[in-house]
Amino acid sequence: MPELPEVETIARGLNRRVAGDAVESVWLGEKPEPLKSPAKEIASVLERARIAGVRRVGKHIVFDLELPSRNGRKSRMTRGQWIVHLGMTGRLLIATPEVEMAKHTHAVLKLASGRELHFVDPRRFGRLAVVRMESSSAPGFAAPGEEPLGSQTERFVTLFRGRKTPIKSALLNQKLFSGVGNIYADESLFRAGIRPRRRAASLTREQLRKLHGTVQEVLREAIELGGSSVSDYVDAEGREGFFQFQHRVYGREGEPCLVCGTPIKRVIIAGRSSHYCPRCQK
Ligand SMILES: [Zn+2]
Repeated sequence: MPELPEVETIARGLNRRVAGDAVESVWLGEKPEPLKSPAKEIASVLERARIAGVRRVGKHIVFDLELPSRNGRKSRMTRGQWIVHLGMTGRLLIATPEVEMAKHTHAVLKLASGRELHFVDPRRFGRLAVVRMESSSAPGFAAPGEEPLGSQTERFVTLFRGRKTPIKSALLNQKLFSGVGNIYADESLFRAGIRPRRRAASLTREQLRKLHGTVQEVLREAIELGGSSVSDYVDAEGREGFFQFQHRVYGREGEPCLVCGTPIKRVIIAGRSSHYCPRCQK
């Protein structure tokens, strides 16, 4: 499943390639699962919309749209958004009309530039939605939790202090912090020297401050390297990320810790694999 750095990489790549383009027409597949808004509404918002920009909000990709006014008056521009969640296996591909449509394609947007934007998702956990913002002050889509890269340290400490769950589960709780997934939670905890099973409430303010720092550091490094290519993740331009070569604990069960040589352990916390060094992490 793509995590925050992969989604950020994909959104940046899409922004570079499709910002300023416009949607001419929309084709939607028959499968109902990927459509979180009614098909008619998706088509109605997207058709003839200009793509002002593409950005990441939490783990969602948000296309900011300028919609033609419905009564034809140019002066009243309505804004809208196309919100894509990639789920487990979703991908947004830029294609040309002569390229054969991949299996499991659920949406095709024909663009004014002659290119097409395809949403492909074999396992169909991905979701497509639209919003139409009638007033200029309408806030648009917001992720449920705090944005990790924009958050203040003291806010992080307040959110996580006093929680009785393991710190790893708290980090994965998208209602607290939006976008930190399994890989980056394990890597942040390793760098902070904290065992994933430790109760959040048992950590000192100083430890929580350190963890907030390592979460941001790991996410920033991963974005710089284009994310982690685990399973079949590639960015919008079909490139792999390189952060997987920086993983110090994730996916390294039984291998020696890069700091102390102790074999890395793997435990299951809240149904997810957690990797840690039993010596470096307390
Ligand atoms: Zn170690």
